[in-house]
Amino acid sequence: MNTTLASINSLASWSKKQERPLVISGPCSAETEEQMHLTASQLAKSGNVDMLRAGIWKPRTRPGSFEGIGKPALAWLVAAGKANKLPVCTEVANAQQVEEALEAGVDVLWVGARTTVNPFSVQEIAESLRGVNVPVMVKNPVNPDIELWIGALERLHGVGVENLAAIHRGFSSSSKTAFRNDPLWDLPIELKSRVPHLPIICDPSHIAGNRDLIPFVAQKALDLDMDGLMIESHFHPENAWSDAKQQITPQTLAHLIQSLIVREPVSANPQFKNTLEVLREQIDQLDDQLMHIMAERMKISERIGTYKKENGVTILQVSRWEEIIASRLMYGKAMGMEESFIKNLLKIIHQGSIEVQNKVMNVGVIKQEAMHTASNP
Ligand code: PEP
Ligand code: MN
Repeated sequence: MNTTLASINSLASWSKKQERPLVISGPCSAETEEQMHLTASQLAKSGNVDMLRAGIWKPRTRPGSFEGIGKPALAWLVAAGKANKLPVCTEVANAQQVEEALEAGVDVLWVGARTTVNPFSVQEIAESLRGVNVPVMVKNPVNPDIELWIGALERLHGVGVENLAAIHRGFSSSSKTAFRNDPLWDLPIELKSRVPHLPIICDPSHIAGNRDLIPFVAQKALDLDMDGLMIESHFHPENAWSDAKQQITPQTLAHLIQSLIVREPVSANPQFKNTLEVLREQIDQLDDQLMHIMAERMKISERIGTYKKENGVTILQVSRWEEIIASRLMYGKAMGMEESFIKNLLKIIHQGSIEVQNKVMNVGVIKQEAMHTASNP
């Protein structure tokens, strides 16, 4: 681990774990002064919200759609926050936006998913924050690259921004899923294990892309011990100028927050601990067996590779692979496992097996190529 990351680890975090998750809500975009005031006052009335959000400058994928009101809307956001005793946050994508947001009195900034992908932009934002003690939240980059996400946090931490948080908003994906952005939960989990004290806030609105899936995503985020939720709300969601399908009313938000189950990562009950230890012991033993079986399987793949090489046969035979999927799927499903889990598992095993065979079959070729590259760099 490098030194910057180590110091993020030791941060006394700004959003210390509270009894319940931190809730940030407000419209996707600030549209009018009235919209900001109505939405904020309804949110404040529900009593469940800790911070008001609104987009002032909107990074739209295609030109021509609503790109935010810009600077004049900052005053609406700040005033709506003040009138309802809520701190406010907004997205910034360059140094000028940082300056204008801070001048207007915005309390917390966030870096959007389309900005986190660009180290030049993140560095520009970071430089404009040198010596300014404002909390900054960093959304994951649109592509599933955890290093870019951590890199952006490091750039901000490097100029002295101490109060940092990450926002998980899902990832662009070419495969069709029920979500607007694939949650790929293993990425925020990896971030948590690499930077344990960094608060992670989930943004179910941009993951779901529609109202109906928000409760499911929000509950899952809490079950993964995330520290907060950022959920888009609007006093009249159907009429929203951006992201209309995924916004909810402040009343719906209040019901949603009340219906979420907050589970603890640990239990004080000693019986729970004993039972958990027994179950974990069983898991450990099964994992040992799994490792043993996988190692055996890879050794056989290696032997198959050698045999194919001697007989001039290709690594991949599509019909054999299809046969494996069909038979294992049937068997696995009969044992009560999810189809998608079995498919993913088989895919990883198959890739590993191809790599092992490729090594065996092309060992001479790879060596020759390496020598060639070394002598002709
Ligand atoms: C937003 O929060 O409105 C937004 C633009 O989000 P993202 O950067 O996650 O797309
Ligand atoms: Mn939005």
